[in-house]
Amino acid sequence: MPIDATQPYDADNIFARILRGEIPAKRVYEDEHALAFHDIAPQAPVHVLVIPKGAYVSWDDFSARAPDAEIAGFVRAVGHVAREHGLVEPGYRLLANIGGHGGQEVPHLHVHLFGGAPLGPMLA
Ligand code: 5GP
Repeated sequence: MPIDATQPYDADNIFARILRGEIPAKRVYEDEHALAFHDIAPQAPVHVLVIPKGAYVSWDDFSARAPDAEIAGFVRAVGHVAREHGLVEPGYRLLANIGGHGGQEVPHLHVHLFGGAPLGPMLA
């Protein structure tokens, strides 16, 4: 069920629980600002989710409220994960679903990183 991107942050959402280590995830990268882990239902040979460590519901919430250092740290982390997976050449895709029309299911900002094969017109 897609979320309302204007809802208050739910500290018990599944990605908040992954961040706290309460439920397992296949972690591939972590730094001060971001955590990256494999999607539980991958739609490409590489399907990693990158999330900020701060409590942000969506890209909208993050871009409006996050301090510049958190935004910069998160953007750099996404690029780092892609490079670490060898995706820059031949290429990859980033996607963030926002709210109902975007089809966002988990109310903690996440960027999907897809790669490892030629991708179709849309994923996620
Ligand atoms: P959204 O539709 O919100 O952009 O994407 C949510 C993504 O989170 C989906 O691709 C879904 O497979 C993934 N996901 C949902 N629950 C879990 C979980 O518990 N662990 C992991 N690793 N991924 C999850």
